[in-house]
Amino acid sequence: MKKKIIIINVILTIIVFISLFFFIDKSYTVPVLMYHSINIGSDSSSLIVSPDTFIKQIKFLKDRNFQFMSLADYVELLKSGKKPRRKSIVITFDDGYEDNYIYAFPILKELNIPATVFIVTDWVNNENMLNWSQIKEMKNSNLVEIGSHSITHDMLTEMPKAAMIREVSQSKQILEKTLDVPVRFFGYPTGAHSEFIKEMTKIAGYKAACATSVDKRTAHSDLFAIRRIRISHSADNLFIFGVQVSGYYNFLKDRRIKKGKWRKY
Ligand SMILES: [Zn+2]
Repeated sequence: MKKKIIIINVILTIIVFISLFFFIDKSYTVPVLMYHSINIGSDSSSLIVSPDTFIKQIKFLKDRNFQFMSLADYVELLKSGKKPRRKSIVITFDDGYEDNYIYAFPILKELNIPATVFIVTDWVNNENMLNWSQIKEMKNSNLVEIGSHSITHDMLTEMPKAAMIREVSQSKQILEKTLDVPVRFFGYPTGAHSEFIKEMTKIAGYKAACATSVDKRTAHSDLFAIRRIRISHSADNLFIFGVQVSGYYNFLKDRRIKKGKWRKY
């Protein structure tokens, strides 16, 4: 009798572990990191990551053998439906800050790391923003892909449809004409999007679009609402960064949204 109970317990434990393994395995998503400004000095904006922290984060990933994927490769992976390799990572920058060129680009070049920079076309050449020659130089490195982040950065969900369509399609045309390269990816300003906006982005000829924090309704494989993890001040702490790049951060976040503890940004 005792032997029987032990056998049943062992079987149950094995079943629990196997189920847990498959559950965890299924919850993995490739972290797509969203940076903004990489700059020195403390600022009230939590979106600024210092160059030191950025280097520490990249080293953290390198030391742990993360595979840096381009957004284009990640999109292909999503399309194929294949399982991602664990410890994959995608790096993106929003808005087109000049400091991306000054502080981040040299590191990307040195370590051969691909990244995508989403440009707001009206902001190019503005103070503290990238100018066209810096954008071209980054593009020519073949490490940095240039995506569109609209013309004005106004929230697409808050404007008339015609204006929204112009933001999506004309920004692509401006970038393509100036850079002489296809612009394949769009980043929704502030992440705000809708089914209609997604459709218009598709029609404009983009291959995929990045959002920010999206709610649970969005599938992990939605090419026009790719989830990204915002890297801010808090990721100065490498423990927090470690959780964010674990591949389970979106999963954990979903649970918190469900419980109403997580405020969307
Ligand atoms: Zn933005």
